[in-house]
Amino acid sequence: MTLAVAPEFQLRVRRDEPMSRHTSWRVGGPADLFFTPRDRSDLAAFLAKLPREVPLTWVGLGSNLLVRDGGIRGAVICTHGAFTQLDRRAQQRVYCESGVPCTRLARQCSAWGFGQAEFFSGIPGTLGGALAMNAGAYGGETWRYVRSVDVIARDGSCRTRPVTEYQASYRHVAMPANDEWFLAAELEFPLRDPAVSGTVRALAQRRKDTQPLGEWSCGSVFTNPPGDHAARLIEAAGLKGFRIGGAVVSEKHANFILNEGSATARDLEQLIAHVRATVQRVHGVTLVPEVRVVGETL
Ligand SMILES: Cc1cc2nc3c(=O)[nH]c(=O)nc-3n(C[C@H](O)[C@H](O)[C@H](O)COP(=O)(O)OP(=O)(O)OC[C@H]3O[C@@H](n4cnc5c(N)ncnc54)[C@H](O)[C@@H]3O)c2cc1C
Repeated sequence: MTLAVAPEFQLRVRRDEPMSRHTSWRVGGPADLFFTPRDRSDLAAFLAKLPREVPLTWVGLGSNLLVRDGGIRGAVICTHGAFTQLDRRAQQRVYCESGVPCTRLARQCSAWGFGQAEFFSGIPGTLGGALAMNAGAYGGETWRYVRSVDVIARDGSCRTRPVTEYQASYRHVAMPANDEWFLAAELEFPLRDPAVSGTVRALAQRRKDTQPLGEWSCGSVFTNPPGDHAARLIEAAGLKGFRIGGAVVSEKHANFILNEGSATARDLEQLIAHVRATVQRVHGVTLVPEVRVVGETL
């Protein structure tokens, strides 16, 4: 069934857009509709005219997303390339829109002399994705620095919510409302402590040495269980190098699953399930996927 789109958006909405172009695993079937808004009023108008029954999926840089081979029914809203504003507000406050890459946020905060924002340099996604995931690295975590967020609802209405309306924990955020998405956040950082910056550089180098960066992955597939590391459990279960089709458990870091070039989403999902089942059997630990799986199977 072809989804109807308001005439003013016809030429700007891509139909049957391969999601493999928008995910760091380079897999994923077609999205019915793929829309990159110009700004928030453009998005508000698009949403207001989109029939309520059309499901929405939001995508930033797709660095934590497994899109199944059958693709995504409904509309995908892409924030990367949209929502790019990044400003200094008060002395130590930053206003950052959700499509801004975390690496750009880290660089700009460093140029402004802010500390503790360096951890964003380890996250290859957008601020919107980091807010949704409570992304973290090197001991830092996104929501520790959030003061308020601008959100948009399914009907296109926008509002600002204070941080107190959210409950963030390890790679999880409890939202005050369903069907709301992040447009921007106001963040606050302390001034830079030079000693800490040096530490982050050393950690970044260590990460390069221990993780298969530059290959097709979504970073860590599973969250770390309390008091342990998913990578240690997977390696101890003898799964390094284990493969299904074109998907393989990294030899360098066992919590990374790589697409060697020919993997389908099905290969990746089956390998994730195999790793989970094996770790459960060998260690009695249930691993929780960090990666978000969306879309339809073929
Ligand atoms: C090599 C590599 C290393 C990584 N290292 C880390 C790491 O150290 N720490 C870490 O935490 N993560 C890491 N990740 C995972 C990933 O980068 C983060 O989870 C990141 O925050 C995802 O951002 P994104 O823009 O790519 O989100 P996407 O993958 O596009 O989306 C992720 C989720 O967020 C939702 N979402 C996206 N934008 C919005 C929005 N504006 N409003 C509401 N929901 C939204 C999506 O619907 C989806 O559910 C790594 C990934 C890779 C590939």
